[in-house]
Amino acid sequence: MMVMRTIVHIDEELCDGCGACISPCAEGALILENGKAKVIREELCDGAGVCLAICPTGALTLESRLAEAFSEQAVEKHQAGGSSHYIPQHCVSCNVSEDDAYLLAIKNRGKSLWYCTRCLPRLIHG
Ligand code: SF4
Repeated sequence: MMVMRTIVHIDEELCDGCGACISPCAEGALILENGKAKVIREELCDGAGVCLAICPTGALTLESRLAEAFSEQAVEKHQAGGSSHYIPQHCVSCNVSEDDAYLLAIKNRGKSLWYCTRCLPRLIHG
């Protein structure tokens, strides 16, 4: 069902295909295709915009337009099928993978940098 709503917009000119936005999307709505981020299906994107803060190039924005309605059932089905598009992020300080540690995104000078919970105290306290 098409509805007027907020949904992510990807500027392909700005997207460099780094993949940083793929795994932070809780719904698994994003994939990399031909070196560019892409929304797999509109019904998987809830328009929350978490990915916006992650993108280092400003390629992601939110727009209001006619789109397929967000569907939690579609997300559950999508996630139950397992995502082959998972791209784990790494701590910029010690390089540990999010598969092995908890990572938090920290904004600095317009960039989102991932830090694990072991390295974060050093960043805070110096
Ligand atoms: S984080 Fe930005 S530049 Fe990187 S793949 Fe996603 S949209 Fe493209």
